[in-house]
Amino acid sequence: MDSIPVRNPRTGAIDYHISPPGSAEIRRACQELRAAQPAWAALTLAQRGAVLERWADEIDAARDEITQALAVDTGRWRMSVESPLGLIGSLRGWAQTAPQIIRQQSGTSSVNPAVHFHSQYKAYPLLGVISPWNFPLILSLIDAVPALMAGCAVIIKPSEITPRFIEPLKATIARVPELMGVLSYVAGDGRTGQDIISNVDIVCFTGSVSTGRKVAEAAARRFIPAFLELGGKDPVIVTADADLDRAARAVLRGCVYATGQICYSIERVYVHEAVHDALVERLVAQAKALHINYPDIHAGHIGPLIFARQSDIIKDHIADAVAKGATVLTGGEIEDHEGGLWVRPTVLTGCNHDMKVMTDETFGPILPVMAFGTEAEAIRLANDTSYGLSAAVIAGDREHGERIAAQIDAGAVSVMDTLLTGAIIRDAEKTSFKFSGLGGTRMGPGSIMRFFRKKAILTNTGEAPDMQEMGEVA
Ligand code: NAP
Repeated sequence: MDSIPVRNPRTGAIDYHISPPGSAEIRRACQELRAAQPAWAALTLAQRGAVLERWADEIDAARDEITQALAVDTGRWRMSVESPLGLIGSLRGWAQTAPQIIRQQSGTSSVNPAVHFHSQYKAYPLLGVISPWNFPLILSLIDAVPALMAGCAVIIKPSEITPRFIEPLKATIARVPELMGVLSYVAGDGRTGQDIISNVDIVCFTGSVSTGRKVAEAAARRFIPAFLELGGKDPVIVTADADLDRAARAVLRGCVYATGQICYSIERVYVHEAVHDALVERLVAQAKALHINYPDIHAGHIGPLIFARQSDIIKDHIADAVAKGATVLTGGEIEDHEGGLWVRPTVLTGCNHDMKVMTDETFGPILPVMAFGTEAEAIRLANDTSYGLSAAVIAGDREHGERIAAQIDAGAVSVMDTLLTGAIIRDAEKTSFKFSGLGGTRMGPGSIMRFFRKKAILTNTGEAPDMQEMGEVA
């Protein structure tokens, strides 16, 4: 297959290439993973956990190389440093918590007390992971780590936009012999993704709604489960009694952290009309104090747009909003610095639901603000969307915020802050509403249970019923 050019987000230059494997190579790789999986699944949880902890040590030892590669992939520094650390935490965390979560069920039937049962969990042999470019390392492994703990083999295809981290990470896998046979990374594009779906037993996909639909269709044709974690258009509601300094800090961070390139970034700001101007004033002042990380990758708050085509969407959403009456108070331009593309935090006021910036995923550091009169109206506006990934509420106190949160149709609602979803990774479960996803929870204890087929072994400890003695049963 032809090699794929990879663009550097800070320079716009093509300075890397990947050579995707062909369909036959993917098939062969999957056969090899399948062959190695039974021995992996036969290890105890403690043994698999120990292997993952050794992998964590190898990642720790190679942190500099992985960080450097991620920094080129994404054009940002601090998150490139934090990502391997987050992965190490996840490996150790799952190694320690999985044995407490995976508990076989056993007991007596409530219908027939003579029937005793116990469960048997059988890992799906081979998981395929297809992941996006916004957090290349973490999102390629968020499902893979619990799946490995469950006993699956895993093949992963990260996005072709950010593939540089794959090689240094593969070098760490190669240093853990037990893992090498059951964990494989392939660099490729959408065709590679489709080849993977054709060869695995279960799929975890993170990405856009449109690709998610293709993945779900391909998985449905094969009758294999597909877990889809898709896009969002997350709202925040700021009530009249909110502490506005706190609200402004949380809203701004929620909208611009990681340059707004987080699936659960805040993309719509609803503020009570009584405090609209005061909040906007704070948002603008704080937005203006943030800097792009150009020319120094180690300085500044806003990184470049990782995927160049995203700049067209952002430009289009801002222009559409302005054409329909919105006002740009700060930012609003795509800045080209030596080929890299940056957008400064952009506060837009006078927004409404006729504008794409309030309905379609923007994936940039944009804060479109809309005033509301009553809380019922705010809740209706927050729910007026085809997405339902997450949301946030900043109210005068926790009870007030939680009361509003309970009425929002989204998988996770942060209260008195934004962006709290990542904090519950092994603790609380969430599923997406509407087009933001499909399938069981990727968070909390249920995450690891997705990777098992569940069997019940049922034993009749009493007499086996005799058809004659049962009389007429038809
Ligand atoms: P995307 O374009 O849907 O791509 C996601 C992955 O699918 C990439 O690896 C992509 O490969 C691959 N792919 C493309 N076409 C395919 C096909 N026909 N069959 C199988 N795989 C295919 O998404 P993205 O632009 O990378 O990521 C941004 C999106 O992800 C946003 O919508 C964001 O909200 C969402 N996201 C969601 C979550 C969540 O947890 N809910 C987290 C992060 C991001 P190539 O890139 O190589 O084409």
